[in-house]
Amino acid sequence: MGDVDDSHRVQPSPQAWPYPPQAWLQAQQYPPPAPPAAAPPGAVPPAAVVPSAAAPPAGQRVVQTDAGSKDGLAKCPRCGATEIRLNIATGNLRCGFCRFEQQSLNALQTYHLDGDPSDLVGTVVGSGSSDIVPSVAEVLTFKCSACGAEVVIDTNSSTQARCHWCRNTLSMNQQVPNGAVPDMILPFKLPKETAVGSINRFVKKRRGFAHPRFTKEFSADNVMGVYLPYMVVDVNAQVSLSGQGEHQTRSYTVKEGDNAVRRYDADLYNVGRNFDLYIDDLTVESSSERLDQNVMVNSNNIINAIMPFDVQNSVCYDSNYLAGFSSEKRDSNVDVLSPVMVAQSQDIARYHANDTLQFYDRGVRWDNEQINVVGQRWVSAYLPVWLYSYHQRKSSGSSFVHYVAVNGRTGETMGSVPINHVKLLLVSSVVEVLAIIALLLVLLVVG
Ligand SMILES: [Zn+2]
Ligand SMILES: [Zn+2]
Repeated sequence: MGDVDDSHRVQPSPQAWPYPPQAWLQAQQYPPPAPPAAAPPGAVPPAAVVPSAAAPPAGQRVVQTDAGSKDGLAKCPRCGATEIRLNIATGNLRCGFCRFEQQSLNALQTYHLDGDPSDLVGTVVGSGSSDIVPSVAEVLTFKCSACGAEVVIDTNSSTQARCHWCRNTLSMNQQVPNGAVPDMILPFKLPKETAVGSINRFVKKRRGFAHPRFTKEFSADNVMGVYLPYMVVDVNAQVSLSGQGEHQTRSYTVKEGDNAVRRYDADLYNVGRNFDLYIDDLTVESSSERLDQNVMVNSNNIINAIMPFDVQNSVCYDSNYLAGFSSEKRDSNVDVLSPVMVAQSQDIARYHANDTLQFYDRGVRWDNEQINVVGQRWVSAYLPVWLYSYHQRKSSGSSFVHYVAVNGRTGETMGSVPINHVKLLLVSSVVEVLAIIALLLVLLVVG
């Protein structure tokens, strides 16, 4: 048995994304903010009365990501209309009346949250990632500054609502500590028609085994665009792994009675790896419903299958990006998500260590794994997903929600469809019968 100390430092390169960097205009080219709209006489300025965020935990640095943003009527700087939506073709916000486009701003660059993870020390969080205060309502009331009416925004599904009296759109852009306004948003890039096409192809391929009722009821046009809440995390960590590895030295055959038996000789080594790990843009789900993946009730885990997202192209948050889409607000805080981040970092560490272990051709077993997170940076984001859902009621009375999800940036598609068990059983029975016939034939021939 050999005993070597082969500790050394590896520095894995930051996670590479398979997307070309997008060119974004710099801050000075952004249209200047519109002058404050003249409020009609007697109108009260829009205000949502909410408690302020709890003080950040000691040692945590908060980067403000909603400075200058306003709640209420978000007007077009050119014509004053509030019909502003995402133009999927350009990634910018466009006025529905005068076609004026506001250039989207890269969020990580604007807020200087894109620094090298190797420089990270301590905990940095975007202000939109601050702890959720349980007393903050999910349904907030805003006063429409155009007509004075009170408009309710249900932050569970959107941060926008239309005033039912004057038809203007009211937006919530200031971060209140209820998780609804994130630090940044990655706008949809894939048009709905393309997503519908992908879902149709996905289901068509599985039509052979799909439940007939599903085949009849399926209509990909019911697809919805949803922004799902994530935390984008940068990590600077020191990793220490130790265990034992085996290296094969000889292989030969020996005779055991009438049989030839293959034998292997191997040396056993104590193996240790200590290295710095820098992770750029790790994405962690920040909805407790999705973290708790109960596959018996739904198939949320398919969202993981349509990763990754080019989160580095996220833009500064504006509720107008949500117009025409739905959203799900974040309900998990950094301290709850920390263990998930550590577990994923450990997976990445083990994966990178493998690159240095070729010598141990019979494998390495880690007995001790330590990860010391030196620096971490948390930025909350909405990521775009086209979602088709189908609620299957089973004869047993239980129900199961099937999803087909399409990455709103890359078009990556994954999902599940209800299976026709009778058909599947028939086919597997046929296969079984054929196997039995084959066995009988073999027995007959041998006999
Ligand atoms: Zn306009
Ligand atoms: Zn109004």
